[in-house]
Amino acid sequence: MLNKTPSYPKLISGTLIFIFLLLAVPFCFVGNGSAPCNLAIASDNQVAVKSKRQILMQLVACASNIKNIKTAVKMYKTDNKRYPPSLRVLVGKYLRKIPTCHAAGGKDTYSQSYRVYGGGKHFIIYCGGDYHKDAGLPPNYPRYDSRNGKVEYKPGVTDLRNLSF
Ligand SMILES: [Zn+2]
Repeated sequence: MLNKTPSYPKLISGTLIFIFLLLAVPFCFVGNGSAPCNLAIASDNQVAVKSKRQILMQLVACASNIKNIKTAVKMYKTDNKRYPPSLRVLVGKYLRKIPTCHAAGGKDTYSQSYRVYGGGKHFIIYCGGDYHKDAGLPPNYPRYDSRNGKVEYKPGVTDLRNLSF
């Protein structure tokens, strides 16, 4: 019967960890550079890593929006023998809705940028504004130009791996 009671070393180590956390966490906010504060420093680094990842994820999502719009524009052209006059006419048959860029706070940054040029031969679409500068992009990128048929992150840069930020 006595053997079935929880082992004391386990209980004691659990309690010690609890007390340590109780003491260490408040000290992290007060002290500077003392040992328990390494916990706080580690969590700061994690925040920095996460936001960099978020910047990249938002850029990937934006480029993916541009690819979806590009596909819809081309499908419209197949059916109508010309590029659409605006993105609005795509909604319903070719696009469920006009996508939005998370880096721009969920705004439609594409409708204003869409332009047909070259006497109706080409079109261009980009994320209008300066919403990806933290990923190292210039304003009005990423963009797609049907003349070269590629999504560019910077002039001449079409591979995400060639971005450094
Ligand atoms: Zn964007």
